[in-house]
Amino acid sequence: MADLPDAALRTQALAAVCRLDALGLNRGSTGNLSVRAGQGGGFWITPTGMPAGELGTDDFVLLDDAGAVLRGEWAPSTEWPFHRAVYRARPDLAAVVHMHSPHATALACLRRPLPAFHYMVAVAGGSSVPCTPYHLFGTEALSQAVGSAFADRNACLMANHGLVAGGSTLAHALKVAIEIEALCGIYLQALAVGEPAILSAEQMAEVQARFKTYGQARRG
Ligand SMILES: [Zn+2]
Repeated sequence: MADLPDAALRTQALAAVCRLDALGLNRGSTGNLSVRAGQGGGFWITPTGMPAGELGTDDFVLLDDAGAVLRGEWAPSTEWPFHRAVYRARPDLAAVVHMHSPHATALACLRRPLPAFHYMVAVAGGSSVPCTPYHLFGTEALSQAVGSAFADRNACLMANHGLVAGGSTLAHALKVAIEIEALCGIYLQALAVGEPAILSAEQMAEVQARFKTYGQARRG
């Protein structure tokens, strides 16, 4: 299998799976991630039912835009339809991370979105992280709901399920996923004591404007 394309992409994807596992954000074979293929269209996704510790770079599965397996020995994650929905909705996104991480999943089980209670919610590309209605995993109904949520966001919660985050690179998708998981934890802690204050649309627009330039300036 040494002739599989996109070796560097698959190496990065494996490292990302192992990182999420080490952080305790995905356990066993729950959660999955994908990266848009380098050439020829489609995307590489984790195989179904394989824990991070057993996964190798050659175990990723290449699916085409219709969901047909182009390369790989294993069946793809059963949740591949919503990955495809994100790539269809957002040509600018190159990676999708899905987690059953504790805090995002707890909020998703309350069927509550993550509102603008903290300015960092803007990493989702807007002033909230929406929560899609409940649909069975792997279904077209769920993938349509996720695709709609991604029209103007880089992330969404799925009711009674977990979190989906996308990025222009795999590193970006990981950053969004890990940040939102942390924010969900803080939001739940704040909710346990009272009702958190919510930033206004103007205040969040100000944050978005800063985010567009933040970290891009290089001095000297
Ligand atoms: Zn899932």
